[in-house]
Amino acid sequence: MTDTYITTTIPYVNARPHLGFALELVQADVLARYRRSTGEQVRFQAGTDDNSLKNVLAAEAAGIGVQEFVDTNAAAFTGLAEPLNLSVDDFIRTSSDPRHRAGVERFWRACAARGDLYRKHYEGLYCVGCEQFYTQAELVNGRCPDHGTVPDLVAEENWFFRLSRYASELSSLIGSGTIRIEPAERRNEVLAFIGGGLEDFSVSRSTERARGWGIPVPGDPGQVIYVWWDALGNYITALDYAGDRENLHRWWIGATRRIHLLGKGVLRFHAVYWPAMLLSAGEALPTDVVVHGYLTANGRKISKSRGAIADPYDLARRYGTDAVRWWLLREVPPGGDADFTIDRLVRRGNDELANGIGNLVNRVVSMIHRYRGGHVPATTVTAPGADALYAAIRNVSGLIAGAIEDFDFRRATEAVWQIADEANRYVNRTRPWDLAKAGDRAELDAVLSVLLLACQAIGTHLAPFLPDAAARITRQCTQDGTGLLPGPAPLLPRITPPAQAGA
Ligand SMILES: [Zn+2]
Repeated sequence: MTDTYITTTIPYVNARPHLGFALELVQADVLARYRRSTGEQVRFQAGTDDNSLKNVLAAEAAGIGVQEFVDTNAAAFTGLAEPLNLSVDDFIRTSSDPRHRAGVERFWRACAARGDLYRKHYEGLYCVGCEQFYTQAELVNGRCPDHGTVPDLVAEENWFFRLSRYASELSSLIGSGTIRIEPAERRNEVLAFIGGGLEDFSVSRSTERARGWGIPVPGDPGQVIYVWWDALGNYITALDYAGDRENLHRWWIGATRRIHLLGKGVLRFHAVYWPAMLLSAGEALPTDVVVHGYLTANGRKISKSRGAIADPYDLARRYGTDAVRWWLLREVPPGGDADFTIDRLVRRGNDELANGIGNLVNRVVSMIHRYRGGHVPATTVTAPGADALYAAIRNVSGLIAGAIEDFDFRRATEAVWQIADEANRYVNRTRPWDLAKAGDRAELDAVLSVLLLACQAIGTHLAPFLPDAAARITRQCTQDGTGLLPGPAPLLPRITPPAQAGA
């Protein structure tokens, strides 16, 4: 039995979720659905990082209690499962899930027992936006390279993690592919970072500086565990690391693949800090660290605060779940950045879903009703001139498998789209209506038969990507209780850009 554990990162809940996080969720969902469809057992986990100082500051700015604030915003993240149609198995919230705090404490003690945690006086430049320290050299004109803000000078005694001890081990684990980092340029980036020397890093802060929010250091109540240490732990605390460990044994220690999906901005935490922490605690390591790029909207950085255009709830409500998922899967290059616009979403949805796939299925089922009374044509004849279409159907499964193994969702969806594209060309070339007029029954049956086969293949292979649309296509292309295909119904309606929507 192959067991696979797939996780997304757990975002801060200082504001509502935007399309960038939807990308990660949808990619993880496709991996989960695809692997389940091949017979694997999969556990797909997401969650929220409630214990960040950013949340505390945002709650203060909003004049709301921190717990109330994070509860409200976290609901907007868990709620994404519906508009994005996610098959999430578990969702952990770090401030309220009883498994989490106990797990983080146990993990801390495991690293302490290994001699990897020690106290030291420290001064550093801290960006709250990033929740990390920067060296002078990493700043741009004295400002955070990501936020453009001047970091806080922090001087206090903190707990440190002996990261330096694991540099060479990490290097060989990553270099050998034992921990696979995709895409390769990200792996090289990590190897170069480790090669430059790893310094121990601070893993606690004073309770005062944390505003009393977070998980206290076991045995040292004056200190709160660093939010990243706390957050990274979610991948195993959610598997009852501190409880009966049954899920830990199945989905972490015993799993064939442990796949983390994440954005490029948090690569170092997942590819360096987290594996080192696991090595220290004597736990298994992730097998795959899969990095995606960033989305912009109309050429501008999507920020949670001014993200109206890229609100996944709003987009799914206006344009449908299928169109949103399709855009994310079809237009975002593996590991790379992409610019989102409504026009691109609409064009992609109309060209490929409405006019391409939806229209094809509708035409084929309509012709089977018109010419054959809804009976699936029985034929032993190979359809003439259909070599390319047969090949697209025959090859789709292998092409998708290869693309998924490379985490290339564009290539995977392209293989399904190829069937629709070939089939539409085939309809236009063979002109079944002329065959019907000419009374060429055997050839018409052969043509309709391969076209229906193509539609059924699209329904089957589209399922991990667009589960809703795939289910409708499959129903439309399967004989019902009367032995006939259901009457043709629109499956993937055209969508309307906002300028015309109000008219
Ligand atoms: Zn920053």
